[in-house]
Amino acid sequence: MKPVEIVLIYQSLLGIYGDRGNAMVLRKRLQWRGIDAVLTEVEPGDAVPADGAVYLLGGGEDAAQVSAVKGLKTDGHIFDAVEGGAVLFSVCAGFQIVGNTFTVGEHDEVIEGLGLLDVDTRRGDVRAVGEILSTWTKPDGTETLITGFENHGGFTTLGPAAKPLAKVEIGIGNANDATEGAVQGKVIGTYPHGPVLARNPELADHLLELALGHELAPLPNPELDELRRQRIAFVRKHGRG
Ligand code: GLN
Repeated sequence: MKPVEIVLIYQSLLGIYGDRGNAMVLRKRLQWRGIDAVLTEVEPGDAVPADGAVYLLGGGEDAAQVSAVKGLKTDGHIFDAVEGGAVLFSVCAGFQIVGNTFTVGEHDEVIEGLGLLDVDTRRGDVRAVGEILSTWTKPDGTETLITGFENHGGFTTLGPAAKPLAKVEIGIGNANDATEGAVQGKVIGTYPHGPVLARNPELADHLLELALGHELAPLPNPELDELRRQRIAFVRKHGRG
């Protein structure tokens, strides 16, 4: 069977927040289950594979976001991949560029994004910096917390085709309505770094289940559970930090 291909896009542009860790987490969680996985890293100018299982975009600065959009549009394969049912998981700057439009720079220049998520991002009144805690309702209807660290100036509004990923308990998130992130089909955007999939293994497994089309047995990890419990308790007690 073909290994599950995880495609990490443009780390030289969208790699400043350590979101590369999301790729490592996905690969590791597949390998721990005995599932063959391969990590493909593409840089601007490289062809983006059109038949990957999960595509990852991370956080970065304004100028890098503009370059990343240009590169991905010129290449074009990301559109085929999403059309073909691949999972696209995007964080912060990545989340913004996957949307319809976002602004960059002091003069708030409006840039057309990839249009794969029905969201629009504009500069907010404040910069959202600090820990973020939100509640995610999983596909089975149960709730779990998403913990991470946010650092963004853009505030995101969802259009009718996108649904929020989570509801903010502490922090800013999308900023407009206490929601965090967005989901449209298998395209998911979110603000937290951490890397977020290291801090939230259930979200990592959700992406893998979406990509594989079947459920995965849980991987119990009491040490990670305890670290999550401590972090969540700290944020609830002391706020964003
Ligand atoms: N430049 C974007 C913003 O400030 C994204 C920042 C990021 O990826 N952390 O909103």
